[in-house]
Amino acid sequence: MALNLASIQIKRCSKCLVMEDRGAGVMIGDDGVCSLCKKDSNKYDEYTWEEKEKIFEDLIMKEKGKHRYDGLVMMSGGKDSAFLAYTLKVKYGMNIMGFVIDQGYEYHDSFTNAKKVCKKLGMPIMFYQPDMNALNKFYRFITLDPVLRRKDYGQICFYCGYFLKNLASNWAEMIDAPYVFSGYNPDQISDLGDAVVTQKDPGKREHQIFLRDAVYSKMEEAVAHVRTCENAEEMLPYFVMPKTPILYYYQHIDYDPMAMMDVIRKELDWEPIERFRKNYIASGCQLATVLVHLCRKKNIPDYIQKEWSTQIRRGTLDKDHIQKLINEFQLDQAEVDEVLASLGLDQNTILNL
Ligand SMILES: [Zn+2]
Repeated sequence: MALNLASIQIKRCSKCLVMEDRGAGVMIGDDGVCSLCKKDSNKYDEYTWEEKEKIFEDLIMKEKGKHRYDGLVMMSGGKDSAFLAYTLKVKYGMNIMGFVIDQGYEYHDSFTNAKKVCKKLGMPIMFYQPDMNALNKFYRFITLDPVLRRKDYGQICFYCGYFLKNLASNWAEMIDAPYVFSGYNPDQISDLGDAVVTQKDPGKREHQIFLRDAVYSKMEEAVAHVRTCENAEEMLPYFVMPKTPILYYYQHIDYDPMAMMDVIRKELDWEPIERFRKNYIASGCQLATVLVHLCRKKNIPDYIQKEWSTQIRRGTLDKDHIQKLINEFQLDQAEVDEVLASLGLDQNTILNL
């Protein structure tokens, strides 16, 4: 049975579609517009896009040609990583390797996409498949653990994200690549405090450093907590911060997902994966899809839609396009149940945590 999201009554901002979230300070006024849309974003001193791009170029040129590879690109097969690989290879002529991680919940045609992109660009690709049994235990642990879990299940992507980045970091070290390149979008970058390098305003820099320190503390706290859990030592290797510097290209350019898709469709024959073809914005793995589904069931905002709203406010995504996507996005209960069952879980247990 498919659940139609449009049938659920939720208060959304008429401009950016963000859901009201009073706990997080997101209020929707009588005029239907949220507090975020009313914030003045022009009061900070900012680098120009040219300056931001120059910062990126200085970083990559400093290491170019000095190692066996110039960098390792984390490839999901989605538009962001495909355009990133294209830029590094074609615009900057870099010697890069693609790194694909099969964590068991990616949609299969993502891998076909990643393979196609690397082949077209003439770059080597490494498929990495972690021990699935052990990995499932990790996913189950971060889903259920009372200390780590969050109301909107965002901790799953948080800890999984660092686990994946750490795998890439280790592999980069092994092949002698000075950088890992990530296709995270601008909001994913600044939410984790990784946008220090592109901030000109001292206050905004400080805020980014604060967020980054918070991420480190959170990881340290998670490690300390895991040590106190019974029979959980095998979880410790999953909570390690990456050592190789990670460069996030999309904070250095005026991020324009629609224009990027035009380029990679034309130059690389890239196509959105089947599951999200109709109104493609992002692929995401099945775990992320389940997380969205569970938030809908609880009628609370999920972090993915929050990111879309940020992009609407910034003007990089079109409101009508997202509205269409929200209305048409059908979640498949069978898919949700299957994913949860693979972790030894069921929907009711998780909703009632
Ligand atoms: Zn708004």
